[in-house]
Amino acid sequence: MGETLIENAYIATMDKDGTVYREGGILIEDDRITEIGPDVRPPRSPEHVIDARHMVALPGFVNAHSHLQQYFRGVYELIGDFYKVNLPLEGYRRPEDMEWLGPASCAEFIHAGCTTAMVIYTYPHGFAESVAQAGFRAILGADIEEVDLVRLMDGAYHYLPEKGEAAYKRAVDLHRKWEGEAEGRITTIVAPKAADLALPETYLKCKDLAEEHGLRMTTHLSQSWREVTQVQRLYGKTPPQHLQDLGVLNNRLTGAHCTYATEQDLKLITRAGMGILHCRAVTNPLLRWLDTGIPVGLGTDDYFHDMLQLLRQNLRGQRTRARLAGGSEGMLASNSLTARPSPRRLLELATRGGAETLGIADKVGSLEPGKKADVILVDMLNPLLTPTMDPLTSIVLYGTSDDISTVMVDGKTLKQDKRLTTINQREALTGAQGRVEEIIERFFADHPDQRENWEKRTRKN
Ligand SMILES: [Zn+2]
Repeated sequence: MGETLIENAYIATMDKDGTVYREGGILIEDDRITEIGPDVRPPRSPEHVIDARHMVALPGFVNAHSHLQQYFRGVYELIGDFYKVNLPLEGYRRPEDMEWLGPASCAEFIHAGCTTAMVIYTYPHGFAESVAQAGFRAILGADIEEVDLVRLMDGAYHYLPEKGEAAYKRAVDLHRKWEGEAEGRITTIVAPKAADLALPETYLKCKDLAEEHGLRMTTHLSQSWREVTQVQRLYGKTPPQHLQDLGVLNNRLTGAHCTYATEQDLKLITRAGMGILHCRAVTNPLLRWLDTGIPVGLGTDDYFHDMLQLLRQNLRGQRTRARLAGGSEGMLASNSLTARPSPRRLLELATRGGAETLGIADKVGSLEPGKKADVILVDMLNPLLTPTMDPLTSIVLYGTSDDISTVMVDGKTLKQDKRLTTINQREALTGAQGRVEEIIERFFADHPDQRENWEKRTRKN
């Protein structure tokens, strides 16, 4: 690939010191950043030069927890029943659907400035193919669970050991086939779904698998009241206590959500050095977690993969939380844009924070010499963003994915002049649309009550 020089950029490195160069350059050699600063002078003339005047260079976003459920947009949000629609719908996808859904998903991540995503999915093989082709970077996990989703629709927990066995096998296959593939851009993680959906034996098998191959683990943790109640009923413990007693709670585990974690749970989490993946429950005690020193990464979770939108939701969510709590948690100016967390702090969580939580900060998450050249350029020449006295605040508060003009992974450009370069977006999206209509039709055919429900809600009101 040779050398690329990005010059004249406003650079927010997101390194530990929060270094910003108001005008500077980034020198990239093959897949790595070799030099960065106000005065970068390449020893010879670089093969590619990007004039980034009026642009902000940031490390690409690290989306620390996501699934590929965005295919069901326009159905799930309207019906809004996680157990009756969301979970069962997932069962209607087939591995071969990924031929279309995979490129559409990669297109969404890249378009939104994401350069690394942790993706947990039932059919990760198909998605891995798309990641490899698109030049994207992903940590892939196969959902491991044994609960019968059909019976869960009616509120009954019924476990199918053979389902857990098959899911575990998919996870092993995923690791064997994909770990370190696509020039090292694909790695794997072990992902038992949640303590109410997977049994203790399964968690222990996952732990062994992770230890044997030096992998990290991730799970949904205290996400719903239903989960907490079921775990309490089965084991007489909270989900973190349960995992602690299984020997799974440690600094190689990340837990998504933690919405219903108790004070005691937080102590366990802190002591274990475990990271929290904070998603769309934006009124969760994010500031409390950060003040406690818990590593936090941000993830879009399910129906959209727009990190900038997620940051804004968090700003609003934390302000609402502070208001409801009477301005506590150090957020005295809870109506002001200066309320904690600052836009800059959120950007940091969306980049280096995610990388640290997932254990990949030696490679990505900040713009520093020696790190992978995963860079995004935000075009500030947009009346919604300029003029501004602080470009980073403007980007977080008013920026959209459309303002991200360049996305680079491993020094290779995946989006240039606001267009994807490795994916035929039109083909990917129209193909995915057709496939999604088929999947949803299959679901509605089996569940006419949900079809009726959906049709009712697409009419007025
Ligand atoms: Zn999730």
